[in-house]
Amino acid sequence: MTQDLHIIGGGMAGSEAAWQAANMGVSVVIHEMRPKVETFAHRTGDLAEMVCSNSFRSDDHEQNAVGLLHWEMRQANGIIMATADKHRLPAGGALAVDRDPFAQSVTAALMDHPNIRVEYGEISELPTEGHWIIATGPLTSAGLGAAIQNETGADALAFFDAIAPIVYADSIDMDVAWMQSRYDKGDTEAEQKAYLNCPMTKDQYEAFIDALLAADKTEFHEGETAGYFDGCLPIEVMADRGRETLRFGPMKPVGLTNSHKPEDKPYAVVQLRKDNALGTLLNIVGFQTKMKYGAQTDVLRMIPGLENASFARLGGIHRNTFINSPTLLDEQMRLKSRPNIRFAGQITGVEGYVESAAMGLLAGRLAAAEILGRTLNTAPLNTAMGALVHHITGGADAKTFQPMNVNFGLFQPVDGLKGGRRGRKDRYKAYSDRAKIDWQHWLDAQSEE
Ligand SMILES: Cc1cc2nc3c(=O)[nH]c(=O)nc-3n(C[C@H](O)[C@H](O)[C@H](O)COP(=O)(O)OP(=O)(O)OC[C@H]3O[C@@H](n4cnc5c(N)ncnc54)[C@H](O)[C@@H]3O)c2cc1C
Repeated sequence: MTQDLHIIGGGMAGSEAAWQAANMGVSVVIHEMRPKVETFAHRTGDLAEMVCSNSFRSDDHEQNAVGLLHWEMRQANGIIMATADKHRLPAGGALAVDRDPFAQSVTAALMDHPNIRVEYGEISELPTEGHWIIATGPLTSAGLGAAIQNETGADALAFFDAIAPIVYADSIDMDVAWMQSRYDKGDTEAEQKAYLNCPMTKDQYEAFIDALLAADKTEFHEGETAGYFDGCLPIEVMADRGRETLRFGPMKPVGLTNSHKPEDKPYAVVQLRKDNALGTLLNIVGFQTKMKYGAQTDVLRMIPGLENASFARLGGIHRNTFINSPTLLDEQMRLKSRPNIRFAGQITGVEGYVESAAMGLLAGRLAAAEILGRTLNTAPLNTAMGALVHHITGGADAKTFQPMNVNFGLFQPVDGLKGGRRGRKDRYKAYSDRAKIDWQHWLDAQSEE
């Protein structure tokens, strides 16, 4: 007889994990605290409730990484995608769904599955025995959050994300920007050139501060600022404290020489740093912000060198519980210090319904394979699933780790294709074609077992 798989949290990730493992023949128990214990965002006791927008974003599986992830999940018989397709609403190229019937259908399908049982109640301790997946999401209950923190250390669990915008490296104007670490610090050339610098004149800086102060901002929810503001002030809050604050903070111009114009002393400098090992994504250092998305792109494109920037993700500050996966999880999504526990969903440091469900799909299959005594490697690197799981379990910089959406910047380059904006369409198609082949191989190998 095989052992049960216990899943804490019946959201996007927990529901998908349960479905996958149950279909592999493993008995699953979902432990869901709602409706007994509520969160500030959920409204119902349904599994897989969409807490805010009703969109799974782009459904384009050739030119969009989230659309490709949809495709991979459909091929893997994912319940989240199948149910989304069933309750689809017209939304152009996006996959929008009728949220209540969607969640009710997922709940009914899981409840009806002969291998799945749902137990309602909060779990607030880390389990010591058995096979577990923790998929408690951005609003993990306080008790369980404390237990995780106790195991991982205070620095390895965050209760808020403070996301600085992330830019595609190939959209930056390198005739304006240059690579240099402050005071050329570092022993190797790579370290001495670890930062990309965008210079500003006094006029450009003043105009930037004006735009920042005037930009539309999102309001904080109650409790969102508590204990948060110490280390990570949003740039617009810094600007509000004084026009020079940013010039003495993240935009200080010291220790840098503009390699294009060595005689010109910049009045302020915006720095960007690698956000992934591939170097295809760069985050704008210290630029966490609550500006609304439209305002954000307008204001950030005022930065010299970023006039044509494409953003892999924009900045934000939210209530969000997530662990430092690059240091805590192995490639099988197991907690290194307690390998009987896997993590899945937004708590692993991915962001969004689709990415969370995708991590549930993978964790469910990996856990079930382990219970059944089968060897199953994690998702292939060149798939959307693989690029994402690789990012959170190793590709991302652990020191600056913040939640990530799936995007083509996470993919290994395809040899022989043109870089830059012009080559993008062909590049994305090539990433998608390659991903589909590798994903299908990974699935086929499992069905042959
Ligand atoms: C306010 C808000 C708005 C958001 N808006 C969007 C959006 O518009 N689009 C988008 O793509 N993403 C959005 N997100 C992110 C969204 O939450 C995730 O994309 C997705 O729901 C995460 O899936 P998950 O399974 O990891 O977590 P969830 O879907 O939140 O599921 C976690 C489940 O665990 C349960 N749980 C928590 N603690 C315990 C415990 N101790 N014991 C038992 N059960 C527990 C919860 O009740 C919940 O059902 C938003 C998040 C928040 C907080």
